[in-house]
Amino acid sequence: MNPTLELAKELISRKSITPSDEGCQELIAKRLEAINFKIEHMPFGDVKNLWATYGESGPLFVFLGHTDVVPTGPIEEWSHDPFNPTVKEGFLYGRGAADMKGSVAAFVTSIEDFLEEKPSLSGRIGVLLTSDEEGPAVDGVSKVVEYLEKKDEKITWCLVGEPTSDNRVGDVIKIGRRGSVSAKIKVIGTQGHVAYPDKANNPIHNFSSPLAELSKLSWKDETGKFQDSILQISNLNSGTGAMNVIPGSLILDLNVRHSPSTPVDQIKLDVESIMNKYDLEYEIIWVIGGKPFLTTEKELIAAVSNSIKDVVGTEPICTTDGGTSDGRFIAPTGAQVVELGPGNASIHKVNESVRKTDLEELNKIYKKILSSLISSV
Ligand SMILES: [Zn+2]
Repeated sequence: MNPTLELAKELISRKSITPSDEGCQELIAKRLEAINFKIEHMPFGDVKNLWATYGESGPLFVFLGHTDVVPTGPIEEWSHDPFNPTVKEGFLYGRGAADMKGSVAAFVTSIEDFLEEKPSLSGRIGVLLTSDEEGPAVDGVSKVVEYLEKKDEKITWCLVGEPTSDNRVGDVIKIGRRGSVSAKIKVIGTQGHVAYPDKANNPIHNFSSPLAELSKLSWKDETGKFQDSILQISNLNSGTGAMNVIPGSLILDLNVRHSPSTPVDQIKLDVESIMNKYDLEYEIIWVIGGKPFLTTEKELIAAVSNSIKDVVGTEPICTTDGGTSDGRFIAPTGAQVVELGPGNASIHKVNESVRKTDLEELNKIYKKILSSLISSV
């Protein structure tokens, strides 16, 4: 029997589509309470959050994860019921298997294994879980962090269990994430008959030159740890549906995933200066999706890398690509943040799965990370 696999199965069988938790956190709280963790449930609105801590004083190591999952998509395309965890040919199938109920299960079993050997510590261990990572993330980790800051609770090291691995567990970890900023631009023209262009003002024509310039915008990464920041246009919409009508407006959505060396203000300035070069009437609304972060201190990165090497034999590649994660809320508090989880090939897809060996190895790697950062007394 493999305790990590068993717990992952129990979690997958709970249909916790964002922001539902369906008792996942209650189940984990019971496991942690049994090994003397102090449990705090922190619901905000529809969102459930769990903050559990062990130990009296010293540096605080936190496992950060989420119990919510994305919807299944067309259920008939799944070869097994996504909420009836199924083990087949070395893989555990089910929604959330890789993102990230497998890692959450490994958090718990690695702590259980660690504390069985070393019940009194010179540091502290925490577990922070939310049921709103895959959604708007407003009532999730960011709210818990506000509460912790009020209590003057400082996280020293934070391990996020997002599925970072590529071909085998621990081959890739994340030591930072890009920021995300979006803008919605409305170019205003004057609607009219295509036969009388002099009596209309065509926003599509007016926008053709700025569009060409915007689509070439990029900013070089100066940290050496990130990709360059490249503007992407995600929507362009105009027209009334009639062939003989010049439309009255045009809407454009854009997004930039940006490195910490490219501040949002720089992106705003460059986009708006292109728009202002042309004789255009326009409105623009900016939305900041997530701030970038980069862990530069070596302590946690070294503990994670060495633990991976001890268990699987090779050192990981440190990257910063991919979407955002809840690590973005922890990093600004001054904590070192590293992400390490199972293979991510199937996340958010039909037939999501995790390798059984990934779960076993994650349990061992997480335990070693605890051992190397938190010493016993
Ligand atoms: Zn996730």
